[in-house]
Amino acid sequence: MEKGTAIRGNFFHLLKDPWPLIEKESDSAQFIKDGLLLINDGIISGFGTYEELSSRLDNYDVIHKPDHLLVPGFIDGHIHFPQVRVMGAYGNQLLDWLQNSIFPEELKYRDRDYATTAAHHFFRALLGAGTTTCQAFTTSSPVSTEVFFDEAIARGMRVIAGLTGIDKFAPDDYCISPHEFYEESKKLIEKYHGLDRCLYAITPRFAVGCSEEMMQACCQLKKEYPDCWVNTHISENPSEIRQAKEEFPDCFDYTEVHEKHGLLGPKFTAGHGVWLSNDEFRRFSHAGAAVCFCPLSNLFLGSGLFRLGKAMDPDQPVRVCLGTDMGAGNSFSMIRVMEEAYKVGLCNNTMLDGSVNPREQDLGESERNKLSPYRAFYLATLGGAKAIYLDHLIGNFVPGKEADFVSLDLQAGQHALAWHQQLTCLDGVPSAIDEAVELLFGVLACGDDRSVSETWIAGKCRYQSNDRGVE
Ligand SMILES: [Zn+2]
Repeated sequence: MEKGTAIRGNFFHLLKDPWPLIEKESDSAQFIKDGLLLINDGIISGFGTYEELSSRLDNYDVIHKPDHLLVPGFIDGHIHFPQVRVMGAYGNQLLDWLQNSIFPEELKYRDRDYATTAAHHFFRALLGAGTTTCQAFTTSSPVSTEVFFDEAIARGMRVIAGLTGIDKFAPDDYCISPHEFYEESKKLIEKYHGLDRCLYAITPRFAVGCSEEMMQACCQLKKEYPDCWVNTHISENPSEIRQAKEEFPDCFDYTEVHEKHGLLGPKFTAGHGVWLSNDEFRRFSHAGAAVCFCPLSNLFLGSGLFRLGKAMDPDQPVRVCLGTDMGAGNSFSMIRVMEEAYKVGLCNNTMLDGSVNPREQDLGESERNKLSPYRAFYLATLGGAKAIYLDHLIGNFVPGKEADFVSLDLQAGQHALAWHQQLTCLDGVPSAIDEAVELLFGVLACGDDRSVSETWIAGKCRYQSNDRGVE
């Protein structure tokens, strides 16, 4: 039998949704000081304290990490591979930003060499940020989609992606006809869906960019391949919503565009949802569909404040993951995403507390808007996995799952952070769950990709922070 790998160190992970556990959030998580993670063939084969499991170590190489905190790999529910070269483009809101900065760049991804160079940097940046799974947009070119999957396979990563469907609201040579989109999507699904750790998402870019025929092509693909995911954008920006309503006059609201075409349901994720109505939240909940909250992007493009507290309504909970939405999101770091999500929650509460409440938020949202460290790390790991229907495979250290995890240096980054963390507990290393979450909140609030010491994919170390160069 091939030797396994055993990681000895301090572990933190979520076991269930912390939102309902207001008084006793710590029941949602587990912290193990001096724990042991056993890995065979990329799968977690044992997890517990070192004391419990050390008798099983005969056939394992042991790696000891006493100074770091090991957490499950981060899940980025919404990211754009072909925007890696234009991250942080200046000066516009969504629709202008797409026309001026994004479509001209994405068009270049028809060129395999151009796309391959970008893919290398893209995946390197993901791993450097501690992201082990992403649900990504490619372009309307099959070449870019192939390059994306091939690079993910080379690194052993679990990813979801698909060819982008868009046949209007973009330069003519960027658009793809519904027929070609349908035919090329089929070829890509047959080749990549289920290959290694790749999964396929039927991807109408957004309703403004899709004709009725394009939406019908997506509907047809979902009927033929019900096992595939669906990935899109929804209700990001008020001008976009007005335009979507004009394009689909038969639909009462934006969500109905997806309902009408048989897409809203399990394995459906829509990025943003900033301006979803209360009734649309209800329908997402009933359908089992997910919204991906992308605060970096929502703030960078000035799109608005997502109502996390509404999505987490216990009477009609919506599945929520977090996403960078890089390049509109100006970082690959899910740590930064958690930070901005925390701030958005507090800003929403300011609107609730004041005399202005334009979105008729109910008072229960106030408590649910608040992103505690348990809630934040839940959304970035197990909750994100649940939103995209992968929680049976990834999201925490439960044996049987894939061994994707991150080693966090709790004191890395800003100089003052190390000092602050040492004040929180002895040498900045936690000894109990309360200390662990306090330190994790320090990372969330003041850290970034510098906090990521190592990133492990399926039991193999694929990134080390002391290895800054490009492979
Ligand atoms: Zn996006």
